Amino acid sequence: MADRIQQFASDNYAGICPEAWAAMEAANAGSATAYGDDEWTARAADGFRTLFETDCEVFFAFNGTAANSLALAALCQSYHSVICSSFAHVETDECGAPEFFSNGSKLLVAPTDDGKLTPEAIVRLATSRADIHFPKPRVVTITQPTETGQVYSVEEVRAIAAVCRDLGLKLHMDGARFAQACASLGCAPADITWRAGVDVLCFGGTKAGMAVGEAVIFFDTALAADFDYRCKQAGQLASKMRFLSAPWTGLLESGAWLRHARHANDCARALAAGIGNCAEIELMFPVQSNAVFVKAPAAVLDALRARGWRFYTFIGGGARFMFAWDSDPAEIAQLIGDVREATEMAIV
Ligand SMILES: *Cc1c(COP(=O)(O)O)cnc(C)c1O
Repeated sequence: MADRIQQFASDNYAGICPEAWAAMEAANAGSATAYGDDEWTARAADGFRTLFETDCEVFFAFNGTAANSLALAALCQSYHSVICSSFAHVETDECGAPEFFSNGSKLLVAPTDDGKLTPEAIVRLATSRADIHFPKPRVVTITQPTETGQVYSVEEVRAIAAVCRDLGLKLHMDGARFAQACASLGCAPADITWRAGVDVLCFGGTKAGMAVGEAVIFFDTALAADFDYRCKQAGQLASKMRFLSAPWTGLLESGAWLRHARHANDCARALAAGIGNCAEIELMFPVQSNAVFVKAPAAVLDALRARGWRFYTFIGGGARFMFAWDSDPAEIAQLIGDVREATEMAIV
């Protein structure tokens, strides 16, 4: 089995990007006040206010599960419910953390074929019951880009926010790959968040090139009341906070957050273009961010594994390939060649 230089099974196989690393190093130049009362943390929070062109409240958590769960918990009482897609990370990959941190708020799952939530599905779930026996719908959460690598357009986010407003629901966005969504849409970050009606965003740092860390951004600042206590109680208050916040200054102030995301998206498009016309291969979802989902016969997937490629098949049985800031076009060319050869062998 070939030892691969680089794998594309996950975008968190990547290391720390130079801009985040340099900021970590700069933050390490001396001592600083603990628990977020330091200038790096203030500078990172200001960086988000500049980026989003608004006076938002910003918090830093270690990972996406905590960021999503605590954000949803902040929006809910225990008797409330959260509407999400059946593909949503909060439903499938957080081990019940949203329910745990909210003391029991129930996830109401909308079936979907491609991972996207629609206004119709939200209305259907939110109005399915109105009696005391059913957990009261309170929040909608959408993933931008979706777990299938698709991007909600500005209009789609606005349409979802409009039904949320009509139904008295808050809107949360899981932006584990928010940078890739912005790169894909080419819009201002404000346009797909608060200007479109999003109340709270979890902005992923890990998949954007940091070692660790996500930002929880409250555009409706009233919803952030006591969120610092919630973070502390959940074990998410870093004592040496500057090492969680400083990398954001490196990403935001240099523009690297967007440049790296564009690169990752370009890599996904390159793979899709390189294999899209192969017989036996089907791209399962439109390639709109840094993910490519490949439906192929089992023999083709086995041949790729035999050539040392790693990939997950947890969505619809297809192979998922993900790209990051460090994805090497030469390695992607190798993958394209191997997919093409594997499909030709499968036909013979
Ligand atoms: C990666 C990811 C997260 C965060 O996951 P953690 O492992 O908890 O950091 C959240 N949502 C989505 C859609 C993700 O892909």
